[in-house]
Amino acid sequence: MSNGSTIQCGIVLHPAGHTRSPAMHRAAYRALGIDADYKAYDVPPTELKAAVRRFRNEGLRQLSVSLPHKEVMLSLVDEVDPVARKIGAINTVTLVADRWVGTNTDWLGALQALERRGAVDGGRAVVLGAGGTARALVYGLCRRGCEVFVLNRTRSRAESLVEDLGAAAAGDLNELAALAPDIIVNTTTVGLNEMESPVTAAAIPKSAVVMDAVYAPERTQFLLDAETRGAQVVGGKWMLVYQAAEQLRLWTAQLENPPSEEEFGKVTGVMAEAFG
Ligand code: NAP
Repeated sequence: MSNGSTIQCGIVLHPAGHTRSPAMHRAAYRALGIDADYKAYDVPPTELKAAVRRFRNEGLRQLSVSLPHKEVMLSLVDEVDPVARKIGAINTVTLVADRWVGTNTDWLGALQALERRGAVDGGRAVVLGAGGTARALVYGLCRRGCEVFVLNRTRSRAESLVEDLGAAAAGDLNELAALAPDIIVNTTTVGLNEMESPVTAAAIPKSAVVMDAVYAPERTQFLLDAETRGAQVVGGKWMLVYQAAEQLRLWTAQLENPPSEEEFGKVTGVMAEAFG
């Protein structure tokens, strides 16, 4: 239930499909006792600029940004923080002292999700894919001192990513087995709403920690294969939950009484439950 003083937040994406973000954020507001609402705005690319103007006029406090708007949003905000600039994509816009500031929490969410299966410091990592999500992963893994390989269907795209973000090397998807990595993350869209994997099961080493950014279905073919191989797996749901919790942390930090660390401790569990 919202009234005139309810803080408004939301997510802009297209198509909206069955986004879980409103349920997750609303559950977190309820758990923290914050009077706020979070809506999904289905906005096609041609209408994004006008929609952003409208969101600003309506006083939206925070806007999550999803496909296909993450790159274009860089040119529609007042300020882009250095990390989002480096990654080349914004997944969060927060109102800070009347300015719309764009940042990226995908890389933080991904690292925290991987940490559910142990520390992410050093070691060899392979990122499958070279789109916006891959850029966030490569940024985060390089920052943690990993030797990062980027394998993609279109090799030239992986090569540019490697050069931009200082990863180790680029390759084709069928080069996974030869690399024997400690960490593998799928950021391709293969597996989204289908039981397909971007790589063969035999290429996944049993000692690896394996994460899929895809979260629908929750147990993708790639994760099922990894599990069969004996690897430790993390579902994309957890990346979604942790990046959302980091978004929430950004705007609530500006409240007169922001949630304490202890209160924040329960947010990920609440969001994970609301994910379903
Ligand atoms: P994107 O920029 O469109 O990149 C898509 C990637 O998938 C590209 O590397 C593309 O390769 C590859 N690909 C597409 N079809 C393929 C196929 N048939 N075979 C092999 N590779 C294929 O997408 P994105 O924004 O990075 O998002 C990627 C996925 O991550 C989506 O499923 C999204 O829902 C998910 N995601 C999850 C979270 C989370 O919190 N869990 C956050 C962000 C995104 P080419 O370069 O060859 O086209």
